[in-house]
Amino acid sequence: LIQLYIPLNFLGFVYREIKQSLVDMEAMFRLMREEREVADAPGAPPLAAGPGEVRFEDVRFGYRPDREILHGVSFAVPPGRTLAIVGPTGAGKSTISRLLFRFYDATAGRILIDGQDVRAVQQDSLRAAIGVVPQDTVLFNDTIRYNIAYGRPGATQAEIEQAARLAQVHDFVLRLPQGYDTMVGERGLKLSGGEKQRVAIARTILKDPRILILDEATSALDTRTEQEIQSALRTVSRDRTTLVIAHRLSTVVEADEIIVLQEGKVAERGNHASLMRADGLYAAMWRRQSEAVAAAEAAAAAAAEA
Ligand code: ADP
Repeated sequence: LIQLYIPLNFLGFVYREIKQSLVDMEAMFRLMREEREVADAPGAPPLAAGPGEVRFEDVRFGYRPDREILHGVSFAVPPGRTLAIVGPTGAGKSTISRLLFRFYDATAGRILIDGQDVRAVQQDSLRAAIGVVPQDTVLFNDTIRYNIAYGRPGATQAEIEQAARLAQVHDFVLRLPQGYDTMVGERGLKLSGGEKQRVAIARTILKDPRILILDEATSALDTRTEQEIQSALRTVSRDRTTLVIAHRLSTVVEADEIIVLQEGKVAERGNHASLMRADGLYAAMWRRQSEAVAAAEAAAAAAAEA
């Protein structure tokens, strides 16, 4: 059914690569149960329904026992709110999302969803409650319909189209040679980064999770693509608890809370206004990025005039 272009004996390797980058981790999990590093507790119940509160309590973690990466991270995201995680490369931002998805268990502290410790519930139910929009989505060598419907196997064509519309990818699909039946992926039509991301957003809209993890692309997209993606992301994160590994100024400004992660510790927290007033790390980061954006815009304007 699933046509992966990867020979099966390479899956272990690919899986490790995927864990690194959050790429399509939900998709791959179904194929690689035996690779899981954590197991369900005997008799673990499914995650009970709830509004989607996420809480990290003094979480410590290292990939290896001799090197701790997160040194006691705490935060709480109320249901439906957005937490932006910012900080330099290597600070531990992706590690936080991997722990929430329970790729690994924390070595100390607790991670709670609606008051339930993620270690105490069935992993399948945990992963059903969390949607991930990765930076770079790997598409299956199958139709665009299949790739979108992957978010909810058994979805009707009407549901698929509705999700595609909300993700602003429907019009694009209609322009493809065979519409929703067009083959995509490595052996089919190759989609751009922005198009793939909108497919991932459509998938997530179909999946309808109560919690969302967004890993914003670091690479620059053209302004129009950028706006389309931002607007699609706003649609999918509305009324859902959202953790975003943020690289864009517009995302952090809108976030309910921002944590600045540095070397595995929360160095600053607040919203945009309070962090700007504090005039610390965040404010410095903001100034640097605003200057970079202004310089890029000036260069683009000069190029347009020439
Ligand atoms: P960020 O997302 O902020 O760039 P990460 O959470 O990816 O940071 O990484 C935090 C630290 O953990 C880095 O020093 C990184 O090298 C290390 N790390 C990440 N994944 C692994 C892994 N699978 N094994 C060992 N170390 C890792």
